[in-house]
Amino acid sequence: MSDFAQESPGLVLSTVDYIFNWARKSAIWPMTFGLACCAIEMMAAGASRFDLDRFGCGVFRPSPRQSDLIIVAGTVTLKMAPVVRRVYEQMPEPKWVISMGSCSNVGGPFNTYSTLQGVDRVIPVDVYIPGCPPRPEALIYGLMRLQDKIMREHPTRYAFGKGNEYLEPQIQQKTN
Ligand code: SF4
Repeated sequence: MSDFAQESPGLVLSTVDYIFNWARKSAIWPMTFGLACCAIEMMAAGASRFDLDRFGCGVFRPSPRQSDLIIVAGTVTLKMAPVVRRVYEQMPEPKWVISMGSCSNVGGPFNTYSTLQGVDRVIPVDVYIPGCPPRPEALIYGLMRLQDKIMREHPTRYAFGKGNEYLEPQIQQKTN
């Protein structure tokens, strides 16, 4: 494909982007990774009352190799941080991260020697959900925001080595 076609993706590549993004956002498989009390709310979100399957996110997997979303729900201790990192690295691309609750976001009430002050110190986070604990509705809202983010990605640009798939073209121009 010529440089011009890559710079101006037009109808074909935009449509391919759209189809990829739509397929990805409609079948997000989260990994079960509860660390503390926030995990109870995450489990409640998966129950029939909230019905995550409406968003294509209801298939919780027991293995990182079958997941494309990790929901870090709970207090991340320094002892657990390398495990979180390893599990994240075992997930195949593309993959996303939701940080659920104040503990995972910033350490919560535990400003102590043993608690990681934010899971974004070990893995990149896409969506932060505040609260102690956040209700299942908040997790659903976070999932919907993640779906919005996925729909703005550019997998074809990424495939052609045109930079970060998460950046809009205007932002990418400034950073190149
Ligand atoms: S944010 Fe609150 S509810 Fe969630 S793990 Fe921390 S202390 Fe528990």
